[in-house]
Amino acid sequence: MSTLRILREFAVVRWLRPLRSRRSVDRRQRRLLRRHVRFLRRRSPHFRDLLADATFERLPVMDKRIMMTEFDRMNTVGVRRDEALELAIANERSREFDADLGENSVGLSSGTSGHRGLFVVSPAERDAWVGAVLARTLPRGDLLGHRIALFLRADNTLYESVRSRAVSFRYFDVYADMAENLARLRAYRPTILVAPPSVLRVIAKAAAAGRFDVVPKKVYAVAEVLELADADLIGRALRQPVLHQLYQCTEGFLAHTCERGVIHLNEDTVLFEREMLDAERFVPIVTDLRRRAQPIVRYRLGDVLRARTEPCACGSALAAIDRIEGREGDTLLFRRPSGGEVPVFADVMARALLFAEGFDEYRVVQTAASRLEIALDVLDDRSRRSVAEEVARLADRVGCERPEVVFVPYEHERSAKLRRVVRDWGSATP
Ligand SMILES: [Zn+2]
Repeated sequence: MSTLRILREFAVVRWLRPLRSRRSVDRRQRRLLRRHVRFLRRRSPHFRDLLADATFERLPVMDKRIMMTEFDRMNTVGVRRDEALELAIANERSREFDADLGENSVGLSSGTSGHRGLFVVSPAERDAWVGAVLARTLPRGDLLGHRIALFLRADNTLYESVRSRAVSFRYFDVYADMAENLARLRAYRPTILVAPPSVLRVIAKAAAAGRFDVVPKKVYAVAEVLELADADLIGRALRQPVLHQLYQCTEGFLAHTCERGVIHLNEDTVLFEREMLDAERFVPIVTDLRRRAQPIVRYRLGDVLRARTEPCACGSALAAIDRIEGREGDTLLFRRPSGGEVPVFADVMARALLFAEGFDEYRVVQTAASRLEIALDVLDDRSRRSVAEEVARLADRVGCERPEVVFVPYEHERSAKLRRVVRDWGSATP
């Protein structure tokens, strides 16, 4: 790790690259893209072949499957997939993440799409990442002496690399006993708290019950979809006027919230193409303009993002996003009486259930063409009736058959990312 590299990236992202106009964002992206394409031609056999026949705009869209099959010819640091996979799995098993391949870090991404992904980052990329994340997260005019609490899954070894005197980090394992985690968290008194919404909910409930009295300066929701109801609960209980988010995955550091809590895409380093699903929703196809060890080029993420129609008052020229809604594969498909299917986005279902009453935790799984399995933590006549009504109302609104609803008890599961709305039927894309 090089502190100097981290500081340089921090300063550049925070102070030296204001990108106040759309033109300056576009100009920067074009310049980085030209340089990146030249690099790929030189150093990545996979992209050299593709770029012999096509310009960047015509490169095939990449996904995790292609990334894995072409791994050896795609990466530019000579890492072999099988070797890296073996090491990454050993790291994961031992839950110690300090074993590296050469000077590069390797890791696994479980993701939610079912395939296993493998990622490689060079030391320079890791430092740039740390610098960028800190630049985007440390509060204004208040840089030193922060205590940052990170609740992590094994997904991300990147955070592990940060040690510094200016800020202190403490890691909390989301698999560990939550009562113990809370006790450690109370003792640590974080100024910045970073955790998935499902963990933040537990902390918020403890706060609401008077069992957690720390008020962090900033709270970040990461790694899972932040539902509106959860955002509200967490914000109130932890006394946060703005609940922040980081959109970060193994494919890159993709978006951050500004001081107003609006999500902005990190277009200073990542190029976003938009595959539109309707007037506002889109699936991002990302190109990381600086990541070289394992190039991320026209990579289709499979998340559904909703664009913000009005510009953000913070003045940033980086595109603003209203919501990160969830996995595209979790878009439910309702059936039209006349045949055919209507996509019901996970976020639309979650919003419909905002109006239902009598329960706290829920999960919706589409298990067949016109059947939903709905798990509720409180299963009684009132909650069943209320949920069934809202599902029926939603079906009516989109002009579809009312799906059959099967109620089951809610089971807490901490082994995977929490997804409240899941489609476990049909093809991966709607
Ligand atoms: Zn903003």
